[in-house]
Formats: sequence, C-alpha cells, structure tokens
Amino acid sequence: MTSSVAALAERVRTADSVVAFTGAGISAASGIPTFRGEDGVWGSEFDPADFHVDRFHADPSAFWERRVDLYAAMTPDDVAPNAAHDALSTLESRGLLDAVVTQNTDGLHRDAGTDDLIELHGTNRLVECVDCGSRADAAPVRERVRGGDLPPTCGDCGGLVKPAVVLFGEQLPTAVFDRAREMARESDLFLAVGSSLTVEPAASLPRDAARHGSLAIVNLEPTPQDARADVVLHGDATDVLPAVVEALA
Ligand code: NAD
Ligand code: ZN
Repeated sequence: MTSSVAALAERVRTADSVVAFTGAGISAASGIPTFRGEDGVWGSEFDPADFHVDRFHADPSAFWERRVDLYAAMTPDDVAPNAAHDALSTLESRGLLDAVVTQNTDGLHRDAGTDDLIELHGTNRLVECVDCGSRADAAPVRERVRGGDLPPTCGDCGGLVKPAVVLFGEQLPTAVFDRAREMARESDLFLAVGSSLTVEPAASLPRDAARHGSLAIVNLEPTPQDARADVVLHGDATDVLPAVVEALA
C-alpha cells in the first residue's frame, strides 16, 4: 500500500479504465456538510428518521417542511463545484477517467462538466411524482412548501411529489446500481473520494472493485476499507485531486 500523490497519478496514467466513486466529502469544501463525521448534520438539529420514506408516506406535509429546512441548512446560496469536482472533470476531458459514480445528490459533478455521471442516490435538483413518475424542477416546489402550499403535488396528475432521491428505506433503482457495479468490476482503478465507505449497498462497489482490480482511497479520515486499497491518501480532496491532475500534466 502506498500513500503518495505521485503513486496515485502513475496508477491513473497506466490504468486502462479509471472510475471515480464520490461521497459527501467531495462537496464539503463547497459548503455542503456531510451526514457523518465531524460537523455532520446528523449530529446537529436533524434526525435521519424525519427523512425516511415511511415518514414521507405517513405525513408528506411534515416531511416536506423538514426537507426544506434540511436543504437550506445544507446548501449555501452561492453553492458551486470546487477544485476536486473540477479535477475529476479535467481528468475525464483528458481521457484519463471513464466515469464518475456519485452518492451525492447535489448536482455539483454535473455543474463541473462531468459527462459520464451515475447519480446512485438520485438528484435533489428534481422532484418526482409518486403516481405518474413525471419529473420537475425542485426549486419551485421548495418555494411552494416555504409558502405553505402543502403537500406539494404533481402539475400533470395531482399526485404527491417527492424529492427525486433515494430516501432512507428505499431501494436503489436496479438498473442504475447494476451499471455502477459493472463499471466497478471492469475498472482497473476505482478511485473512492470523500466517502466514509459505510453506506450500503454503495459501499459494496469499492469492495467489488478491489476484488477485480485496484482500489485507491482519498478521504480526510481513515475508512473501514483502507486495508483493501492499494493507494490511500488521507487528506482534503480539494488538495489531493488537483495535485494528481498537476502530476499528470
Ligand atoms: P459520509 O457523510 O458518510 O462521509 C463523508 C466522508 O468524507 C467522511 O469520511 C469525511 O472524513 C470525508 N470528508 C469530509 N470532508 C472531506 C474533504 N474535504 N476531503 C476528503 N474527504 C472529506 O458520506 P457518504 O459516504 O457520501 O455517505 C453519505 C450519504 O449521504 C450518501 O448516501 C449521500 O447520498 C448522502 N449525502 C449527500 C450529500 C451531497 O449530496 N453533497 C451530502 C451529505 C450526505
Ligand atoms: Zn403525476
């Protein structure tokens, strides 16, 4: 096991296929707190039980009121991609990275220009009707909730709308997860960035990848999967990933 930027850059350069796997930590420098770890939102005024799918169905109005509070607490007004999102997008445009599989729902990889993106847990940018499946922008819905128009409903059929994300208690869409698993298995290098690597089933992807190829981990703190990685860098993703890009210039 190595822990140098140069070693990671060399692996990126020589691998036939590289897939990045990102978690909440990559967006921390954009001002979006993580769920777990130091300064995580679950240690503050929020309770994960309020965002469970059962809570949504039991009381959609109360669910949405809390959801809008959580969104406001987690999203600065001027939220934007940071140097780590940009570095992954640069690697992709140079042909050194095949795809990004993200657990994040914040849309920042898309904003940074990443093209091949799998959003495992969906996106907070949209809402989805539970009856007809039609999708719409989330911002106007949050606005309606703040104005007391509860619970928010679908413009097409009048059904309830929910955030277009995988809520606690919901299954990941099979097709999305299968594609991510295939990419993990087929990659020579699977680069996990800013994830505690504990949320299942997403955390099974680095395990799978390490069995078939090589695993690299970039995270502020140690993770339970460090032992199976070939490269582990404990540091801020906004320092490490730009340094890797630099080393490959
Ligand atoms: P997590 O909250 O479990 O872990 C985040 C990890 O990132 C921690 O281990 C922490 O040490 C590390 N970290 C924090 N700042 C970092 C930095 N600057 N550089 C490198 N590492 C840093 O996150 P997870 O593993 O993604 O799982 C959380 C779940 O919560 C996911 O399902 C995700 O959908 C959701 N989530 C998403 C967002 C978002 O969209 N931005 C934010 C919070 C939670
Ligand atoms: Zn509908």
